[in-house]
Amino acid sequence: MKKGIIICVDDEKIILDSLKTELKNSFGDEFIIETAENAMEAIETFELLRSKKFEIPLIISDYIMPTMKGDEFLEKIHQLSPNTLKILLTGQATVEGVTNVINKANLYRLISKPWDSSDLILTVEQAIKSYSQQNQLELQNKQLRELSISLEEKVEKRTKELRKTNELLVEKQDEITSQNNELEEYRNHLEELVKTRTKELNTAKEKAEENDRLKSAFMANISHEIRTPMNGIIGFIDMLRSQEFEKDEQLNFLNLIENCTKQLMAIIIDIVEISKLETNQVKARISPFNTNSIPENLSSLFHYNLERNSDLELNIKFPEEEIECLTDGVKLQQILSNLVTNAIRYTPSGSIDVGLSITNDSNIVFYVKDTGIGIPKEFHKIIFERFRQVDIRLSRRYGGTGLGLAISKAYAELLGGKIWIESEPEKGSTFYLSIPYVPLNKDKAQKNGKNQLNGFHRKTVLVAEDDDTNFLFLNTALNRINFNSIRAKNGEEAVTICKNNENIDLILMDIKMPIMDGFEAAEEILKFRANIPIIAQSAYAFPTDKSKALKIGFAEYITKPTRLNVLIEVLKKHMEKIPVTPA
Ligand code: ADP
Repeated sequence: MKKGIIICVDDEKIILDSLKTELKNSFGDEFIIETAENAMEAIETFELLRSKKFEIPLIISDYIMPTMKGDEFLEKIHQLSPNTLKILLTGQATVEGVTNVINKANLYRLISKPWDSSDLILTVEQAIKSYSQQNQLELQNKQLRELSISLEEKVEKRTKELRKTNELLVEKQDEITSQNNELEEYRNHLEELVKTRTKELNTAKEKAEENDRLKSAFMANISHEIRTPMNGIIGFIDMLRSQEFEKDEQLNFLNLIENCTKQLMAIIIDIVEISKLETNQVKARISPFNTNSIPENLSSLFHYNLERNSDLELNIKFPEEEIECLTDGVKLQQILSNLVTNAIRYTPSGSIDVGLSITNDSNIVFYVKDTGIGIPKEFHKIIFERFRQVDIRLSRRYGGTGLGLAISKAYAELLGGKIWIESEPEKGSTFYLSIPYVPLNKDKAQKNGKNQLNGFHRKTVLVAEDDDTNFLFLNTALNRINFNSIRAKNGEEAVTICKNNENIDLILMDIKMPIMDGFEAAEEILKFRANIPIIAQSAYAFPTDKSKALKIGFAEYITKPTRLNVLIEVLKKHMEKIPVTPA
């Protein structure tokens, strides 16, 4: 380590040398003692030594010197190095000069000349100590400052990190809150679902119990119904075997046996039919049908019954004009015959009127009106359910199995129609059957349907339908109102036809089809013909199916059996959205 330097300044050479000698003796081991004879020389030496990185802890300067006095000199030194300690050595310094040097140069001590040696050495010793302590203090201060800065930086960095972590935590918290909300919603939804499901299951259970009860009642009833003709058959066969009877009596027995057999047959046919209807095995066979054949058929069918009851008359009044329509004529007559059978069965005396009218909304409404025992209001709906009878005791009296109206209602729905009743006990009942009127006669077509779609003819409809009967119905209906139709037998065919035929204006899409169902086909078609109206047709009227269809992009969802007026309304609504081809 370099030695420190003490500079002594005095213009009197003798004093300067004696000062140097005294200082050298006491501090020569640790310090170099430099001298200068005037202030300028001393400043030069000071700067030179400083540039060479020497430590100069102390300057001892005379006061009275030529060119620059001690106070001015020490002030300059102070400006260059505030830490260097300054001792003024004087015999005749002014008070002003000393005050000056104390204030401006931070004077360490004033030593008067001639100095006392021990005082000088002690003062220098203390000055050196004080310098080194001050330096140490400064060093420590510097280190402390640096430490404090680095600490501040660390604290700032840590604060930033903590703030970021906090932000992340807040975000996480938000996420957790939203997840919690979602979970809560889901839980509520699940609870709702469980409640609905439980309710549905309870209803299904009650229904199953009711069915069970009805089936038992039905079995008792059916066994009575079967036993009655069976007894007749067995009884008359025994009589024939006994050979005690005349020829004409025997012939009468044979007729009675035949009637009983027919009754049995009818019951068996009803039972088989209702189970086929329940499993969707019965389809309507739509073809042209003339309603004017109905009166004759009914008359001959019930001729025998009416002959046996002279208190009852059957009046059938149909319009004289020919009414040709598209329907399943066999099922239509079956319904009417069931209604007339009931009317005869539940009308001991009086009259039965049968007739029809055509309504403005393209329906044919048939009615069977009797003056019989009537039906209380609370039974008006449930008598159309299978095995339901107003009073089991009455059915013992009048016969019947509780299946006729259930079959009639199912048939009416197959024809795209409905059945209902107006009745009052003791006054009689009127049963109504309404089916869509799809006319065959051109003049009437103008009035019923075609004129509702003026301006839209020559539009082309793609009918995606796998069932032949349903297609025949839709095709005939469309042709009657002058629309062109093209058929696809499954979803895949519908997509291909649509790709190859730009003239298709609208699609009637069955949902349940082989190979590709209606949902998938519609999705495919909408990819390349986004604006084409696609009307879903489904026999399964589940609300989820409907919302699924609308979500996919179906323009409308209609349930089968399709009603003509509904079809026309839907075509009208969606054809209005596409440009009209001039007729
Ligand atoms: P059923 O073979 O018992 O006549 P239906 O299903 O045809 O079965 O009729 C159900 C019930 O409705 C009958 O049992 C009867 O109580 C009532 N009903 C049906 N038609 C008439 C009618 N024209 N007048 C009074 N009651 C009727």
